[in-house]
Amino acid sequence: MKHEHLLKSHQLKATPQRIAIIELMYHTGHISIDDLYSAIRKKFSSISLATLYKNVHTMLDVSLIREVKIPGQKTKYEIEKESHAHVMCKTCGELKDVPFNPLVLLQDTTRMSQYVAEEISIVISGVCPSCQKK
Ligand SMILES: [Zn+2]
Ligand SMILES: [Zn+2]
Repeated sequence: MKHEHLLKSHQLKATPQRIAIIELMYHTGHISIDDLYSAIRKKFSSISLATLYKNVHTMLDVSLIREVKIPGQKTKYEIEKESHAHVMCKTCGELKDVPFNPLVLLQDTTRMSQYVAEEISIVISGVCPSCQKK
């Protein structure tokens, strides 16, 4: 129900496939298109990769979801939420959100480079607590 509302509040028709996509993103936190595709096919066996891409891009266009670009990995997608950075474990591949306010960084960068900043993405890689114990 909540996910249906999310689609409608972005002026998108809440189709069963779209609801399933949002649900998968919500439960995994971050998901690649490949993982999304194999998970969604369990429910909608006839969905094509092209249709899935189309739905994902429609949701990107209205900023319901966003891309998370991770160096050396496939792009993942997540539901749009308050700004945060990502920490990624080099051992097990875990990707987690960490609270982060980019405002100061954006202001400094804009001032120093004279660029009009549009997007900020921060991924910090390292070793997660459970991999440190191994
Ligand atoms: Zn790990
Ligand atoms: Zn995230």
